Amino acid sequence: MTEASARFHRSVAEALADPHLRQALDRTTGRLAGGLAKAFATIPDAGALRDTARRIRAHTIAHLDQHLDQFERAATARGCHVHWAPTAADATRLVVDIARARGVSLAVKSKSMVTEEIELNAALGAAGVRVVESDLGEFVVQLADDRPSHIIAPIVHMSRDDVARLFEDKLGARPDEVADIPAITAFARRTLRQEFLQAGMGISGVNLAVADTGSLCLVTNEGNGRLTTTLPRVHVAVMGLERIVPTAADLGVVLQLLARSATGQALSVYTNIITGPRRPATSDGPGEPDGPDELHIVVVDNGRSRLLGGELAEILYCVRCGACLNICPVYHHIGGHAYGGVYPGPVGSVVSPGLMGLDEWSELPHASSLCGACRDVCPVRIDLPRLLLNLRAQTVAARMGPAWLRIAMPLYAAIATRPVLYRWLGSLAARLSRMMGHDGWLDRLPGPLSAWTTERDFPVPAPRSFVQEHHAHAPRAGGCE
Ligand code: SF4
Repeated sequence: MTEASARFHRSVAEALADPHLRQALDRTTGRLAGGLAKAFATIPDAGALRDTARRIRAHTIAHLDQHLDQFERAATARGCHVHWAPTAADATRLVVDIARARGVSLAVKSKSMVTEEIELNAALGAAGVRVVESDLGEFVVQLADDRPSHIIAPIVHMSRDDVARLFEDKLGARPDEVADIPAITAFARRTLRQEFLQAGMGISGVNLAVADTGSLCLVTNEGNGRLTTTLPRVHVAVMGLERIVPTAADLGVVLQLLARSATGQALSVYTNIITGPRRPATSDGPGEPDGPDELHIVVVDNGRSRLLGGELAEILYCVRCGACLNICPVYHHIGGHAYGGVYPGPVGSVVSPGLMGLDEWSELPHASSLCGACRDVCPVRIDLPRLLLNLRAQTVAARMGPAWLRIAMPLYAAIATRPVLYRWLGSLAARLSRMMGHDGWLDRLPGPLSAWTTERDFPVPAPRSFVQEHHAHAPRAGGCE
């Protein structure tokens, strides 16, 4: 077993042994998944809308180069600076250079998965720029020196009391200032307001960019996104290169699904469409009163273009709603941290190995029951089980699985393709199991199969196999009436 695999198994074991985590996950993912069902019931033909959204995303990804070119031209015409970052290191260097050139020492940042992916905070910190997360959940994660455990609910693993204690310890909050959730949010707001006023740079992600207008769409529920993108003099928006739609009409389709899938809202509280920096005063008018003087857009590849045209390209349709996490039985049990990367859940099990290769992430495609719930709930109908199976096949082809499985599968194939041997061994195993079982159950299986029986019992095989039953009951050829 590789070090990465061992780390994954350790994290899973720790997560499974944590009842506090289980309660927190049940509470939040249950609420989000329940909200989704109600929100979709308000759309007359949700299925057709999802089909349309999938077509938009499929078309966009199939012609991504054209849409990105169009976006660059339109955004530049609106006064933006568009930068291309082939790798995470290129992206962080670009942002650091922008900050250094403008003498920025404090940046506020709204929630963004791609900036987590490229580890932007660490790079800016090393360059002497303090970054303050302004989304409440991300602010808590930063304060706790932790990692987000959900795409849209970063502190799904924490309780209100955990956050109150953290604010007391790290920010010196009095107990009455963190007595309940409104008090906690008011305290965070007071703390963050000062940072917004002093920051020289605002950093955001991009939910979706619009190719033909050069606009950026950001959806948030806390208003921190608006402060981040309007108060500081410089706004840097970091986007994965797949996060684009051709037109504003296409954006309208995806937005109808995004908030419903993410939080069960018809729309997020704030839907911001940003087209260029603040317009200066001209002879035609007084200009805009707020907004940044400079808007930089850093388009990050970091492995995405490798997926284009391949078996895993479909994952680039993802709009990061998090619905597949909320419905996933595996995520429910182990939470986000156990997945090890920035992207947890079924989507993360494809994105992490897809972007960063299987070497470090070969266990993730196996962390799925393949029940298909993620595919059923995905607003753009990504066939996640198919992608997971494809990755599993790649791990087998690269001989990455555990040694026992590499020996066992060819052995099984040899037996399963020889009916007489298969039936004889099957009946022998069934007899032995029944001798070892109690009340129809086995409480211990041998070797690696014991992983199953450490958590649950295994039923002993029926006295007669399916084939024997079939032969006993199936009508003889020609006997149908
Ligand atoms: S894979 Fe689908 S359900 Fe999961 S985060 Fe992406 S868009 Fe949402």
